Amino acid sequence: MNTRIYNARVLTMDGDTNIIENGEVLVRGNTILYAGSKEGAIEYLQNSTDTIMWNREIDANGNLVMPGFKNAHTHSGMTFLRSAADDMKLDDWLTQQIFPREALLTPDDVYIATKLAILEYLTSGVTAVCEMYLMPEVIAKAMEESGMRCVQCGGMNNFSQSLELQRKWFKELNKENSLTSYRLGLHAEYTTSKELLEQTAALAKELKAPVYLHNSETEAEVKGCKDRYNGLTPTEALDEMGMFEYGGTFFHGVHVTDHDMEIMKKHNIAVVTNPASNAKLASGIAPIEKYLKEGITLGIGTDGPASNNCLDMFREMFLVTGLAKLRENDASAVDAAEVLKMAAVGGAHAMGLTDCDSLKSGKKADLIMLDMHAPNMQPINNIVKNVVYSGSKSNVLMTMIDGKILYEKGEFNIGEDPEKIYSEVQAIIDRMR
Ligand SMILES: [Zn+2]
Repeated sequence: MNTRIYNARVLTMDGDTNIIENGEVLVRGNTILYAGSKEGAIEYLQNSTDTIMWNREIDANGNLVMPGFKNAHTHSGMTFLRSAADDMKLDDWLTQQIFPREALLTPDDVYIATKLAILEYLTSGVTAVCEMYLMPEVIAKAMEESGMRCVQCGGMNNFSQSLELQRKWFKELNKENSLTSYRLGLHAEYTTSKELLEQTAALAKELKAPVYLHNSETEAEVKGCKDRYNGLTPTEALDEMGMFEYGGTFFHGVHVTDHDMEIMKKHNIAVVTNPASNAKLASGIAPIEKYLKEGITLGIGTDGPASNNCLDMFREMFLVTGLAKLRENDASAVDAAEVLKMAAVGGAHAMGLTDCDSLKSGKKADLIMLDMHAPNMQPINNIVKNVVYSGSKSNVLMTMIDGKILYEKGEFNIGEDPEKIYSEVQAIIDRMR
């Protein structure tokens, strides 16, 4: 599939957030050939040694074409729990409502619940997700069949998954030229014994792999760790075990110290912030302004649909900046361009992806088109600020992943009827009532 998109406003996010008016994006197969001005596209094609036949030539009508958003932390299979339990204390919510129902899940359940999440990602302009959930083989199948790019990470703890399984998945779920990949990971310090944490650190060294985990999400978690490890924070305790020799990514990173940030910088650890989940579960506000000043790589995630409850990157982007401004008591904190970079570029890097972070020759064709002919996008004073402050998923006209258009003007192209997916996910939660 070769696609030419013309008459577009192009935001390449290749080093800046400047808008190219009347631009073009040329895609051959799954790769971007060119992204930039109309004149540059003409020159590119004139200098090209072979003639490209376009399967689609899309008149963007002045709409915005930009790299897709990366949902850098989610639990897709939890869609069946959306709005099944809310407005509860975090501990009660987890132990009384979430864990008992998850224990009843079959592979078919996880497969179809993941597909429901994929539909929602596409409507929100998400072109890659970082996934932590049960049954990684099933999730890889659902993602690949649908055409969604996905980096999975282990969610091991004392009760679920194991080092042996992680070793197996690391070997079997990392294939050449695949949309999906697998990273070493654990649920969190507070759910994992010291022995298992130390063994994970040893496995990370053996595999020369970064480690992904929930870290410092709540004050109680950090206090518990200090009690267990002679006053060390989770970041300090895990660093002492040698967990981050090959880096890693922290999900949440809400309650961290200056020394934690020093450790993150030393080991090139990225942070994925989940503002909606942190707000709804009353966990706190992450120090995004400080992370930016320290040069720490930042991504944005929705967390799972049981705690959020939606998988909407526009809402997350607004919350990242809105909550940062409140936390710092400073309306100039964390500006829109920084937030957009986190959502499209930083998230990719936090997931270990470098080939789908911007619109540039040779990068993977993971891109979205946003409607500029909508009341909430007019007038055009500053498009980047419009996207972050007034944009919404209703503005997503098209989502392309790996060169394939999977969502266009309300229609899905993932090989399955959405209504069938809705009714099958409904049946899961009905069965558990
Ligand atoms: Zn999570």
